[in-house]
Amino acid sequence: MRTSLATLFRRTRNASRNPDSLRRPIGLPQALFHFLHPGLWETFFPALGMPVVRSAPTTRATLERAELISETEHCLPVKLLDAHLEDLAGRVDRVFVPRILSLRRGFISCPKLAALPDAVRAQFRGRFEVVTTDMDENRRPLEQTLAELGRALGFAPADSAAAARQALAAAGAPDAPPDGKRFLLLGHPYNLGDAYLTEPIVRKLEELGVAVERLPTGPPRGAPDPLRWDTSAHMLEALRALSSERCAGVIQLTSFNCGCDSMASTYYRETLKAAGIPYMALTLDSHTALAGLDTRLEAFVDSIAGRA
Ligand code: SF4
Repeated sequence: MRTSLATLFRRTRNASRNPDSLRRPIGLPQALFHFLHPGLWETFFPALGMPVVRSAPTTRATLERAELISETEHCLPVKLLDAHLEDLAGRVDRVFVPRILSLRRGFISCPKLAALPDAVRAQFRGRFEVVTTDMDENRRPLEQTLAELGRALGFAPADSAAAARQALAAAGAPDAPPDGKRFLLLGHPYNLGDAYLTEPIVRKLEELGVAVERLPTGPPRGAPDPLRWDTSAHMLEALRALSSERCAGVIQLTSFNCGCDSMASTYYRETLKAAGIPYMALTLDSHTALAGLDTRLEAFVDSIAGRA
């Protein structure tokens, strides 16, 4: 089922006559866009009075299901989104999947994120209604996007604006970085934010006695130079701010089939080489045996210890 903003606006009059219909639960997958704005959607919909039903966190079974049901050409985060949506099918009659065009004015998002609602409708073919909105900072700020979505869903302008403000406050600022020399885990927010993907790596590094920090989520701050993809540019900006006195090494978690990573990794490597900071990339796909990454992590940490 297709639900564009225009369709939602047309429904507003009918829905306002039936408040129960307005407040039907909405499904939120704990995947992909969930990690781009942690806490945002989980706050926004309940603030409007819409209960949220979340998919279960990623497990090995989610990964296996993603490989089975999703397009082979998709990258891992998009495959995982499909598996999380399948978890919601039958539990809710509508889910939210935004079309993500830009997370920061002057930048653009990965083209795969611009096609998300279409890809989901093609994949699930009427098993639930797909509620969507365009997230495009080049056209309007996020607060306006949220308020317009609330109105399109049939809520009063004042309630929609209040829910938008509440959601943005809940999404909040990232934690301050820890003190001391440490390793940096680098990657797109949906790779770093998914505990199933990153915790074995963090645990292993901690076992090896290595302090580790995940790159905080956030949009790039400066102008595109040279990357225009928002999450890739955010990574490059963070790497340019590193020094070898504070950073012992960088481990990038990259998704198999990620076009942005394959282009941007050259810039990451060159930036870190110039700063004298060791760098390693680990590729994640649905076949990745996370325990099998231990050997590579040990070798990386040992090689740095050997250089010191
Ligand atoms: S940037 Fe890469 S990992 Fe992220 S959605 Fe695009 S292709 Fe997938």
